[in-house]
Amino acid sequence: MNKQIKKIAILTSGGDAPGMNNAVRAVVKHALANQIEPFLVFEGYKGLVNKNILPATQYDVDQYVSKGGTFIFSARFPEFKDPNVRLQAKKNLEDIGIDALVVIGGDGSYMGAQLLHEIGIKTIGLPGTIDNDITSSDFTIGYDTALNTIVDAVDKLRDTSNSHNRFLMLEVMGHGAGDLALYSGLATGAEIIITNEHTMNEDEIAKIVNHQIKIMKKRSVIAIVSEFIYPNLKAIAKSVEEKTGIASRAMALEHVQRGGNPSAQERIWATLMGIKAVDLLKEGKSGIAIGISKGDIVSIPILEALQAPRKSNKEKAIKFNKLNQS
Ligand code: ADP
Repeated sequence: MNKQIKKIAILTSGGDAPGMNNAVRAVVKHALANQIEPFLVFEGYKGLVNKNILPATQYDVDQYVSKGGTFIFSARFPEFKDPNVRLQAKKNLEDIGIDALVVIGGDGSYMGAQLLHEIGIKTIGLPGTIDNDITSSDFTIGYDTALNTIVDAVDKLRDTSNSHNRFLMLEVMGHGAGDLALYSGLATGAEIIITNEHTMNEDEIAKIVNHQIKIMKKRSVIAIVSEFIYPNLKAIAKSVEEKTGIASRAMALEHVQRGGNPSAQERIWATLMGIKAVDLLKEGKSGIAIGISKGDIVSIPILEALQAPRKSNKEKAIKFNKLNQS
């Protein structure tokens, strides 16, 4: 017979992502509906160690349903890798009588949750990152909104690039995963999509730009590029301009991608995953990661989630490039 859970805490950790607030809200509301007392931990693992923990009933969680970012804040806290620091976190939770913790974050945050599970704190992980780089889940909280933000930006950049007959390189986030570049490229008709698994050198880029503008008579060419591939994107654009004679620009969308109101899909997934977290804790589960697979909410051990292999996007990148260059 499982010990009845009486108090649950929630924290958001790592990079902030639109939809985190919806997940927090869902955990709070579903806990309350099940006579479980919800607590909020402010600033991720840092707040857990500094005992920055307050009853969620002090907050009107409904007001954050449409807001991006995370209203319980996030923090990078490398000190959490120290076992003694984690013991302090455990003590803080036990002092308040909190039985379980829901962690919303990326792979690093999952690792922290796994290590807490190993010292006897019941933990559940929710995938929260715009990068869609948690391989055990088809979608992460924040990805859909970030994708829509990029698509909106590219549509605007297309208007101005068309007006001036330009080549534009736009760097987007992804933290090693190409999904944001790949699918924003597909959605906007970007002529060039460059991901970690499908890179191009300056000559290859220049050849495509030349062909698209001079032979295909396009008014503009847009390249969407995953972050961390080119150390100096502006230098690449300059080199393409020198090789082709076509005006070329480069820019990074940077933190604009992280903000904004969560999309409808984001709110739905985040809410359903938050509900699932409370249900699993009620069943006595711990050390579990929640994700989305084939349109459904699924759960697997955090350790398995951390080891799930990343699928290569190379074939898709080649296919999408061909489509958009035709
Ligand atoms: P993300 O969760 O988005 O991958 P980070 O990798 O920055 O982001 O991790 C977020 C936080 O999780 C870190 O600041 C740290 O507090 C905690 N964390 C990361 N890796 C570990 C680890 N190996 N052991 C314990 N805690 C970790």
